[in-house]
Amino acid sequence: MQELLNKQLNQELRNAYLYLSMSAYFDDLGLKGFAHYFKVQAKEEVGHAMKIYEFIYDAGGKVILSEVPQPKTSWGSVSEAIEDFYVAEVENTKRFYELMDAARGENNKAVESFLKWFIDEQVEEVSNANELLTKVKMIGEHKPTLLMLDAKLAERK
Ligand code: MG
Repeated sequence: MQELLNKQLNQELRNAYLYLSMSAYFDDLGLKGFAHYFKVQAKEEVGHAMKIYEFIYDAGGKVILSEVPQPKTSWGSVSEAIEDFYVAEVENTKRFYELMDAARGENNKAVESFLKWFIDEQVEEVSNANELLTKVKMIGEHKPTLLMLDAKLAERK
């Protein structure tokens, strides 16, 4: 179980790295609102990694950090980047379901209880990513509307 949790900790950092890379891509495009949105998202992922980190120690385990590979650094379009965001969150949800199955398989109630927060969180993450993807697909290449969305995303806390 400890190995699986360490793996998930690494995965959250990979996602943080991916979202920070998306932020840089949007900053390159001058889309400051999108860039801000993904900086906030990247911080959230680091927060998820830290939640797992603390749990591993609370449960008497040991954190072992592994390599975080270079993320993708550019995308063909805004939609393509947001599509990757959506896919990353869908895949992450699957990982938490697998972790939950493993915890249940071991009858590890502490891990099971810990994972519940993440499973709820993933519902929100996938929903947010899907909502954003739907919007950018609708907007397509229509710059004025894209800039309106960019201004909206700049407000993310
Ligand atoms: Mg996460």
